[in-house]
Amino acid sequence: MNVASARIADVLLPLALGQAYSYAIPEGMDLEVGSFVEVPLGTRQIFGCVWAIRDANQTNMKLKSIMRKCDAEALGDTHRKFIEWLSAYYLEPMGNVLRMVMRVPAALDDPRLQKAWILGDVRPEKLTPQRARVLEISQQGFAMKTSELAEASGVGSSVVKALGALGALKEVGLPPHAKFTQPDLNAGGLTLNADQHKAALVLRQMIATRSHKVTLLDGVTGSGKTEVYFEAMAASLAAGHQVLLLLPEIALTAQFIARVERRFNAEPAQWHSDLKPRERERVWRGVASGEARIVVGARSALFLPWVRLGLIVVDEEHESAYKQDEGVPYHARDMAVLYGTLGKFPVVLSSATPSLESLVNVDRQRYDIVKLKDRHGRRELPETTLIDMTQEKLEAGQWLSHALINDTASTLQAGDQALLFLNRRGFAPLTLCRTCGHRLHCPQCAAAMVEHRFRKQLQCHHCGHVEPVPKACPSCHTEGQLVPVGPGIERLAEEVTRLFPDARVAILSSDLARGQSLRDTLKGVEEGAFNLVLGTQLVAKGHHFPHLTLVGVVDADLALESSDPRAGERTWALLAQVAGRSGRGIKPGRALVQTYLAQHPLMKALVKGDRDAYLEGEKRIREMAGLPPHGRLAGVVISGKDANETQRFARDIALKAPAAEGVQVLGPAPAPIAMVRGRYRFRLLVKASRDVNLQAFLAAWLSDVKPKGSLNLQLDVDPYNFL
Ligand code: ADP
Ligand code: ZN
Repeated sequence: MNVASARIADVLLPLALGQAYSYAIPEGMDLEVGSFVEVPLGTRQIFGCVWAIRDANQTNMKLKSIMRKCDAEALGDTHRKFIEWLSAYYLEPMGNVLRMVMRVPAALDDPRLQKAWILGDVRPEKLTPQRARVLEISQQGFAMKTSELAEASGVGSSVVKALGALGALKEVGLPPHAKFTQPDLNAGGLTLNADQHKAALVLRQMIATRSHKVTLLDGVTGSGKTEVYFEAMAASLAAGHQVLLLLPEIALTAQFIARVERRFNAEPAQWHSDLKPRERERVWRGVASGEARIVVGARSALFLPWVRLGLIVVDEEHESAYKQDEGVPYHARDMAVLYGTLGKFPVVLSSATPSLESLVNVDRQRYDIVKLKDRHGRRELPETTLIDMTQEKLEAGQWLSHALINDTASTLQAGDQALLFLNRRGFAPLTLCRTCGHRLHCPQCAAAMVEHRFRKQLQCHHCGHVEPVPKACPSCHTEGQLVPVGPGIERLAEEVTRLFPDARVAILSSDLARGQSLRDTLKGVEEGAFNLVLGTQLVAKGHHFPHLTLVGVVDADLALESSDPRAGERTWALLAQVAGRSGRGIKPGRALVQTYLAQHPLMKALVKGDRDAYLEGEKRIREMAGLPPHGRLAGVVISGKDANETQRFARDIALKAPAAEGVQVLGPAPAPIAMVRGRYRFRLLVKASRDVNLQAFLAAWLSDVKPKGSLNLQLDVDPYNFL
């Protein structure tokens, strides 16, 4: 290579690497920073993104060359900065963050050149089970790319190509992706009431002045927050931007999408985990080209290759579903705020039960606040009543109080809809032997097996291990003595069918239905096809059920029992949100809350609807304890196959912690779930005051720690999960 004129590209690869690798740029290849390229890596070829371009010097003589440039638009400056900042904030290798952007490799190349397979006329002589699966999938009649067909049939791409060579599959060109309809900004706007109008004006103003402030849209359930942030979206679209509306995944129902579509007379692009590959590709391309103007998506939509992003709305901003625990442990709400700062555009956080983090940011005047105090159309918030369970005489196997049974009966009789909320999956959380007291535990985790009667099995909620329910106790071998203890949603269903045999019951629990079937059930609830709904926490996520007039909380104390510093705040949000599903239609609603802690400040505040008083108390507790948002936390989980070795390693790490003012390293202590999947777990918790540079401390402490063998170290900056 001619060193004098040669240029080098540092290419970031979507792998667990902290740095870009250098490659020579072949003569005549027209690259810019952000371009996607294909490069050799060892014996394979891999896609990457150009992070820097510079002149070569003598030491670069032996570099391998970039193979080719992809057709996709170069990744913009802001997006690359976002990757770098996110990586630095969570101390996560940059390559791992880039991987979240590059999840759709099919979108990197020119769509016109894309080939796909349909069923051919030849039957292969040798029909292996793998081949049979591929042909069965192609019989459904969709043209699919090699990678898609391979993935859908669970085989390697060589199997697909071999069938192609035999003529059992036929190659066709793929039709172009359907275009995204451009939004009509004045299409379906409602006439806003006075409060909404005022709130919308503030948001519109924020867009007009290109302020990059964060605004908390704080309005009671049913106050019309959605209508108000639609106005902010319209203003941003009018200024030529793309807008992103983030929702907890489960709130992405067909009803919600239809509402966005009505407002803008254009179906928005959607982004969530069960999109088909081709739709995923279409959205990625649409965002990269700027053609997709409105994206409604789950947290990972932040990583789409934005080119003109001008507004992010985070709906239900308090939701813990915005925190990802596996892979890169990021919080989408916080990263939306970061993106707004880097991209110099506004961010709207919307909730009826804002997080303490956001409220304290308002107190500190870092965020603005816009309030909606009343439900739209003179609708009242549901009247909430406590049922003191210490005063109830319940039979064995009965979980509903007399008051709740009576109210449910009268609600159904009146032709209305009732929701019974119990935040526990399965039939019973615990099974034990009446003879010897043995509890059924997961063989790989320090956790009880949960009975799932509909599926006739026991399941571990930590590792997914399943086994049939045994007839005899595994310890004393007595038959017929295993008894379920405590209720789950399936056991409640038994009681409910006994009490209300004619009710049209829907059970909304994440383990019974997922994806489309769950969205279908939610639609049924919204349209009134069911009149008695039993639900776990997924019913609390922003759904609008107009026929619902009674909400019964079966066990309000469940979430309060945990040692999580956010337990109170979360219980508040959960109960207020569930209660807030009631009375959103024409008829007023009620909420009955069963509790053994009727004197608890949270329960008293719930009855009075006095959120601010309760949260002020919580803020003070956090402040005194130096917990977020007044102090900062980082969790470190050390796990390994050998208990002693793991503990020793955890202790060694704790001893290595540098002394730093304002930082405490607590632990190691056995994690609350001390074993998962056969791995022993120990926790360290770093507690720092707010003015400490936590990342610098963590880097100085942990950057040269190299866990060996089965040992593993998992770092979680701003943890939300303490198990
Ligand atoms: P939130 O998001 O605050 O819970 P929504 O925006 O979902 O509230 O509004 C609740 C219900 O009230 C929805 O059915 C919505 O269509 C209706 N609504 C809200 N504002 C108006 C308005 N200005 N005119 C007519 N209907 C409205
Ligand atoms: Zn397990």
